[in-house]
Amino acid sequence: MNWKWHLTIGLFAAIITTIILKIFLPFQINIYTLGVLALVSVVSPLIMDLDHGNGKLKDALTGLGLMLTIFALVAIQTNLILSPNKAFQLIVAGTFIVSLAHITPKLFKHRGFIHSITFALIYGLVISVLTKNIYIGIVALMACYSHLVLDKIPLKIT
Ligand SMILES: [Zn+2]
Repeated sequence: MNWKWHLTIGLFAAIITTIILKIFLPFQINIYTLGVLALVSVVSPLIMDLDHGNGKLKDALTGLGLMLTIFALVAIQTNLILSPNKAFQLIVAGTFIVSLAHITPKLFKHRGFIHSITFALIYGLVISVLTKNIYIGIVALMACYSHLVLDKIPLKIT
């Protein structure tokens, strides 16, 4: 399955999950959660193909990481409104994202552990902790899981 299909079906899964959570549970959505939801809904359906050496996500994450790092370096040089502390955090985050995109395909074989229910659950948990919002974690999990269904390995545990 190509990345466009993964993205389309994954976005669909994320929207359906958000609607169900909103109807049955106290899932509060403000402008901040909406922004985070949008980012999570785009990244989650593609994250599993990070184990694929030439995935679209690898290019996108490399670009994003480099942009963050360059922005922070320029901000320091030109005294833009960014404390040295914040700039340093951005450089660390940018470097981490680029490294993640390049190291993951070397550490994991394609359609190995990263293409599994266990990985989807861990990923959902990590997003819950990072966003301090269990509902966003559930949306991330479902969007990520849709990838396994489309790859026709919906019950792969590890
Ligand atoms: Zn895949």
